[in-house]
Amino acid sequence: MNPYIQYMYSYPHKTAYRPLEGISLKEYAHLLAGSGHGLYLHIPFCQTKCGYCNLFSAAGHGEKEMDWYLDAVERQSSQYSELLGPYQPVFSEMIIGGGTPLLLTKKQLDRMFSMMENFFTFSKDRELVVETAPNQTSKEKLEVLRQAGVTRVSMGIQSFSDGELAALGRGHRAQKAREALALLKSFDFPCINVDFIYGIPGQTADSLLGSLKEALDFGPDEIFLYPLYVRHGVRLESEGIVPDGEAALEQYRRASGFLREKGYRQDSMRRFVKRKGERAFSECGMGTSLALGCGGRSYLGNLHFCTPYEVGGRECLEQIKRFEDTEDFTRIVHGIVLDEGEIKRRYVLRHLLIHPGLDAERYEEHFKSRAMDDFPILSRWAEQGFLHGDRFLGLTEKGLEWSDYLGPKLISPEIKKAMDEWEEQHSSVKGGWLSE
Ligand code: SF4
Repeated sequence: MNPYIQYMYSYPHKTAYRPLEGISLKEYAHLLAGSGHGLYLHIPFCQTKCGYCNLFSAAGHGEKEMDWYLDAVERQSSQYSELLGPYQPVFSEMIIGGGTPLLLTKKQLDRMFSMMENFFTFSKDRELVVETAPNQTSKEKLEVLRQAGVTRVSMGIQSFSDGELAALGRGHRAQKAREALALLKSFDFPCINVDFIYGIPGQTADSLLGSLKEALDFGPDEIFLYPLYVRHGVRLESEGIVPDGEAALEQYRRASGFLREKGYRQDSMRRFVKRKGERAFSECGMGTSLALGCGGRSYLGNLHFCTPYEVGGRECLEQIKRFEDTEDFTRIVHGIVLDEGEIKRRYVLRHLLIHPGLDAERYEEHFKSRAMDDFPILSRWAEQGFLHGDRFLGLTEKGLEWSDYLGPKLISPEIKKAMDEWEEQHSSVKGGWLSE
């Protein structure tokens, strides 16, 4: 049996979103009143498109094109800020993701951070997270991040083997990643996160461990281990690459055991954290988050919205152009409005797959019903050894390694149908793996 069906990073998947009519951000603005919200900015540009990448990103942009994009983000920020003004939102977290945000020039990065400060209010202890890639990690740009008060930098390294990086179609070499990580480390940001991939063609458990051992020399605060997914529309699919689930599972077992042995706390199938103590429960199924730019999604109560999801470079470029031509950013034209059943599913998924798990009492407080009654499959999983606990229903070690198999079982038939329709429309080949 293949344990790698789908990464349930968020629910519902963007492929279930559809055109919306007659919805304005104005109706939902009150949900952003007060403090504790998230702000996300998507920078959809990359130096090259990696062979496995199904994120909303496109390659081949120059400084001028990125300026046009920032012009549009500025107009969007201005409109949002004006509309939200009466509710005085205070954001406790800002994530700048991509794509590769550090592909922006120093001047553009300065402009981007000033823009955020000018249009939005942040709490004093706010988290500011930026994603980067080895080729774009320079002293000059890290200096900008330090000035901006970045608290967490996340770097996609994926492997310290040149052969594996080539198999992934990554644009950097292992030596560049070593240099970038050493430089990043010298800046002393409060948190450094590094990403690695397993299940790469030609990779072995030993070579994966070799990469992780090298990474540990730099003392990262967090390590994310991602299984390789090859989904419709990515370059590796056209090359006929099909990941070997069994080999990937074996690699995961060795790597997760190794990281735990080295003192990393495993919070989910992917996330390993070098911090003392247990991860505190945090309510992540009901949070409010506002996205800026093209490709990032907003979560406001039962409304989730985003520009249409695309994988191919040409399609992403078309969406970016449409975003830049938008006059009224407060009109919500693409997304999904969730009913109570879908909100429950989202809540369960957002908590069950991450330590310490689903708090059954809080679930009952929120929904006035019991999670075990709403989702009888949870009792079966407990009997089968995937789940344990009473008040906190969490994944066992076996459950953790089967996270990407269990999560998709909680997708509702309606959402599954919408996702399948999208897949059919966007691909001539059926049966591929879908990842976030
Ligand atoms: S995987 Fe990351 S760096 Fe590679 S193309 Fe996608 S967004 Fe860009």
